[in-house]
Amino acid sequence: MINFLDLHKINVRFENDFQNQFKRFFNSGHYILGPEVERFETGFATYCGTDFCVGTANGLDALTLIFKSYIHLGKLQLNDEVIVPANTYIASILSIINAGLRPVLVEPDLETYNISPEEIIKHINPNTKAILVVHLYGLLADMDAINAIAKSNRLLVIEDAAQAHGALKSSNTIKLSAVEVPNSKIRKAGNLGDAAAFSFYPTKNLGALGDAGAVTTNNPDLAETIKMMRNYGSSKRYVNEVIGVNSRLDELQAAFLNVKLKQLDQDNEIRRTIAKRYLREIKNKKLILPFYSGGNDHVFHLFTVRVSNRIEFEAYLKSHGIGYLIHYPIPPHQQKALSMYNNNNYDITELIHKTIISIPLSPVMTAGDTATIINVLNAY
Ligand SMILES: *Cc1c(COP(=O)(O)O)cnc(C)c1O
Repeated sequence: MINFLDLHKINVRFENDFQNQFKRFFNSGHYILGPEVERFETGFATYCGTDFCVGTANGLDALTLIFKSYIHLGKLQLNDEVIVPANTYIASILSIINAGLRPVLVEPDLETYNISPEEIIKHINPNTKAILVVHLYGLLADMDAINAIAKSNRLLVIEDAAQAHGALKSSNTIKLSAVEVPNSKIRKAGNLGDAAAFSFYPTKNLGALGDAGAVTTNNPDLAETIKMMRNYGSSKRYVNEVIGVNSRLDELQAAFLNVKLKQLDQDNEIRRTIAKRYLREIKNKKLILPFYSGGNDHVFHLFTVRVSNRIEFEAYLKSHGIGYLIHYPIPPHQQKALSMYNNNNYDITELIHKTIISIPLSPVMTAGDTATIINVLNAY
């Protein structure tokens, strides 16, 4: 049996460091917003190439706090429209609603599964004030086109980077993997719009041992507002300036993340190596493989294939002991929770949701596992 994802195997690599971190944390007596959170915020901002990083309790809160803070700063008004891909995890859409804004769902590109710039243009009207981009499955969205649209329409661009830690924007002509990039020129997920939200949910490319999230941005006012908002709207103890929430990044999770951040680039490289092998060696007309340019703009959070008879394919994988998951089985607009969208049709989104299936890809799987999966898929 090859598991879809072995989280223990991923984390056991860091067991000694985690135990040392726990001891240090325990002995410090500083359990909320202590030195580890600060160290992570500095380290992750540097990693992303942004001026600021503010830790939050999870990825959904990171997204929601970006929107709430823009409202507080007067950059967004309640009921403003925010364009968001219809083809995403529901968290992206919930953050907009929970902040009091209106999501406008837009179809993706059938090749990349990411939001289509042409479709964005069609949905812009005077109420449109922001675009929430999702780098789905770890592939950067078309940020040049999206930022150009945003600039000419004066829209904010917010990244949902929950699946794309470390994805690097490469130019069309240069393969970044073969070139040394000076630090100041780094354009990574988290530094490709006005603000970005990350999740460190355990299954993500950079995963904690519990819930955790963060916002990155180059905007000092936004960073400061989010820092207040996440801590009861207070920057000075017992002085509350805005209606905030409790969404602090946990000190112990930050300590674990400080250990794992050092390994992120190497893990992403292993993910890409496995993905390249899948793309080279899976040869089956019944399976549509994911789009990949060959660059570092994809960190393969997931390796998805599309298959027309998914029910049959699931049974086939089960009978051959290959773990799988479906990301995602029901599109957000067909969820009961979003009943206001239930009558809308998003044909491309629906097609993707009906046919997509994720096969195992992780930095700790063996070459033997990869070979077995390739053989089983080729024999389908
Ligand atoms: C995981 C995820 C989130 C939410 O992160 P949580 O930490 O679970 O709140 C948001 N958007 C996308 C695309 C995700 O994959």
